[in-house]
Amino acid sequence: MSKSLPPLNPINVSIFVGLPIAALILVPAWGIYHGFSVAQWLWALAFLYLNGMSITGGYHRLWSHKAYEAHPALKWFFALWGAGALQNSILIWSSDHRRHHRHVDDNDKDPYSAGRGLWFSHMGWMLREYRSNEPDFRNATDLQADPIVMFQHRHYIALTVLMNVGAPLLLGLALGDVIGTLLLVGLLRLVVNHHFTFFINSLAHFWGRRPYTEENSARDNDLLAFLTYGEGYHNFHHLFARDYRNGIRWWHWDPTKWMINLCSRLGLASNLHREPNFRIQRAILDTQFRKARTALASTRDDGSLLGALEREYQLYKESINTWASLQAERVERKKSALGDALGEKKLQLADKWEKAALRTKLQALEYSMLMQRKRLELLIAQVRLQSQPA
Ligand SMILES: [Zn+2]
Ligand SMILES: [Zn+2]
Repeated sequence: MSKSLPPLNPINVSIFVGLPIAALILVPAWGIYHGFSVAQWLWALAFLYLNGMSITGGYHRLWSHKAYEAHPALKWFFALWGAGALQNSILIWSSDHRRHHRHVDDNDKDPYSAGRGLWFSHMGWMLREYRSNEPDFRNATDLQADPIVMFQHRHYIALTVLMNVGAPLLLGLALGDVIGTLLLVGLLRLVVNHHFTFFINSLAHFWGRRPYTEENSARDNDLLAFLTYGEGYHNFHHLFARDYRNGIRWWHWDPTKWMINLCSRLGLASNLHREPNFRIQRAILDTQFRKARTALASTRDDGSLLGALEREYQLYKESINTWASLQAERVERKKSALGDALGEKKLQLADKWEKAALRTKLQALEYSMLMQRKRLELLIAQVRLQSQPA
């Protein structure tokens, strides 16, 4: 079996195996010998978040998925601190990630396919020269046209050394402990950030809920969201990759979403893409119907549960049709408003009123779908109860 494995990649092995071993030995040793200050710990945490959020907010949501547009100043910031995360250039990272989405769980094409196991998707994929890992930038021509992306790609090694050695070194001089700062803010922070980010490819494809789709292995997991700067709502993300949010509810821990929001208030980000709530609700209901049908198939049912399910499904189809016709109405009104000879002010007022009326209808529809979701949850619980042996 081992004979068929591709050769190891020596640079990646030293980064992803060598550095954690060095951190495990050197950080506690220096801690015992010399100790670390509170300031050093806080700086390590600050660097961790600066690196982590440049990957999630920059590499991932901005460059890989175009979930929003960013001011050049913000792009430079992400390019610099993202290089400090030592996860390859934006171009390589985003091209790999787009392949991951396009071919998710396909063991031949998804570079970190969860189908090849937890270890492989976490970091095994980087340690050897796997064919699924060969660079192919045909899916990233837009990024090749971005001068900031290309500058970072060309000067990647210099930038990553600057951010991982230069910046902690200067900080160490300022704090009066160069070795300790290099170990904590340089080394330990780097290793911790690596694994926190890798959790998104590994654990977030194995452990958690799948409320939006069961078509792929991606999962929603609150604990992982906490560790991964908000990227733990991975089931949502795989279905709605262009949404700038991963955690869509206000209570979902998604600091990357909050950062992008803040940047948009400051004029640094624009055109934040949000998936319409109706589509999200529809995905949840679709998944619930599928779950209910699967559960029912293995239950002795006298037909009453199936009947209830079919009635719900009928209602659901009606909601979808209503939504489609409301959307059509919206488009139609826009068209007629354009050709109307009404005065500018009058037109604006009429438009406002119509929009409000449409919004109310859509909200009512969304509410009825929410109620339907609750009923379906009860129905699924009933089916499960029935399928248990007495
Ligand atoms: Zn994924
Ligand atoms: Zn993604």
